[in-house]
Amino acid sequence: MSDPRDSQRTSQTRRALAEEIGAIVGERHVLASDDAPAAAWETHQPFQGDLWISPGSTDEVASVLALCNDRRRPVVPMGGLTNLVQACATSETEIGLSLARMNRIEEVDPIAQTMTVQAGVTLREAQEAAAEAGLYFPVDIGARDNCMLGGNVSTNAGGTKVIRYGMIRESVLGLEAVLADGTVVSSMNRFIKNNSGFDLKHLFIGTEGTLGVITRIVFRLSVEPASHNVALLAVESYADVVRVLDAVRTSLGGNLCGFEVMWNEFYCMATRPEGPQAAPLSREFPFYAIVEAMGSDAERDTTAFTEAMSALTENDLVVDGVVAKSGAEREAIWAIRHEVEWLVSDALNFDVSLRVADVGRYVDDIDGRIKAAYPQAFVAAFGHLGDNNIHISVLPNAQDADEGVKSHIYEALRPYGGAISAEHGIGIEKRRWLDISRTPQEVALMASLKRSLDPNNVLNPGKVVDVREH
Ligand SMILES: Cc1cc2nc3c(=O)[nH]c(=O)nc-3n(C[C@H](O)[C@H](O)[C@H](O)COP(=O)(O)OP(=O)(O)OC[C@H]3O[C@@H](n4cnc5c(N)ncnc54)[C@H](O)[C@@H]3O)c2cc1C
Repeated sequence: MSDPRDSQRTSQTRRALAEEIGAIVGERHVLASDDAPAAAWETHQPFQGDLWISPGSTDEVASVLALCNDRRRPVVPMGGLTNLVQACATSETEIGLSLARMNRIEEVDPIAQTMTVQAGVTLREAQEAAAEAGLYFPVDIGARDNCMLGGNVSTNAGGTKVIRYGMIRESVLGLEAVLADGTVVSSMNRFIKNNSGFDLKHLFIGTEGTLGVITRIVFRLSVEPASHNVALLAVESYADVVRVLDAVRTSLGGNLCGFEVMWNEFYCMATRPEGPQAAPLSREFPFYAIVEAMGSDAERDTTAFTEAMSALTENDLVVDGVVAKSGAEREAIWAIRHEVEWLVSDALNFDVSLRVADVGRYVDDIDGRIKAAYPQAFVAAFGHLGDNNIHISVLPNAQDADEGVKSHIYEALRPYGGAISAEHGIGIEKRRWLDISRTPQEVALMASLKRSLDPNNVLNPGKVVDVREH
């Protein structure tokens, strides 16, 4: 039988820690579990930790981490909580550390074309601040209103402009991070070229808050594009989708920034008559592609874009299509692809990478496997084909089907040498499948880095790689 005095002692220790943290960040920024703010998106990681705290400065983050490290209390860094891999999942002894109060845009430098921010600025706020200065923030994802730049960098976010601007890693010049023991590593480089020793920022980009808490970031911005063209195309076969991609890479060159594909099931569901999105093209075609281009000469680029789209029809690669004539039409086309709340909340969502040539066969393969196992399942494929990345959402319509579906999706990647995560990361969700995409030596090195930077395993423990298993 448990001794009631043990639980009394535990709750006294917890109260004492809450008071100590309150003395650092201010009492009103320390919330009990039940008072933690709810996440904007339903991403299956309700807050179950002990305390929810929101420091207001790098110094406060450093003091809290030093204290928690000393007391061996695990801390889970939190941005907008939009990740889809349970990277912010908490257990009852863990402390959620939200960056939401560190939401200042410190500087936009139009000559250097840089933006310096605190980690809690949302992606939307950064995009708007760049636009106000006549510049362009080169990353965009559907969760832009809620996700925060610290979270975006910690997950190395991708999105819809990767063909042209790369993953967010490409736009980070420097950053400041706090290690598990409270050491502040300020690596706020502002230069495009700086080979002065190790480029330490990469330790914190895409490592999901396991090696440090990012507090500030310097981004490289781009010039605001003068032209912006978007088309929605209908295509008869996957082989033709690949030909269309090849053709627009050639015809649009460096202006091509997005190439998204939606399989019929996705398009039909996204544009279902009772839903919010209209269907600009009939819902009968096997594939739909969104082509997006941006450039520096409005008139010339728009003419070139229209000609490129017409050539696709003349060459019988495209069976129907519509070119957006206004900003509203551009947004309406993108909304079909971006407004995916209906999927995120209910479905099992996957995000894998494969060679473009293999994607069609892979999707057929997993569609067959899943429907054979779960005949009522809904399987929808869509995503950033131009950068090898396909999302698959599955509503298995069967209880206890989750593990079976995951196994089909991930095991089918092995023969193709595919990646289990193109952009969403690993979190807890995909950890057990990591060996499909990484060698034992790579996983061992990840665990070794984690042990070296966080010997007490207090920073987002158990995410990406569990050091207790390696
Ligand atoms: C509708 C929708 C569309 C999406 N589309 C895309 C897409 O196109 N491309 C894409 O890449 N992702 C996409 N995502 C996933 C998600 O938005 C990204 O992973 C995003 O970058 C997470 O940012 P966040 O602020 O919400 O981070 P959170 O979910 O809060 O955290 C993510 C991870 O980062 C860590 N973390 C957060 N802040 C910090 C910090 N300051 N320092 C250290 N670690 C930190 C957390 O511990 C966690 O491990 C989408 C999600 C939704 C809901």
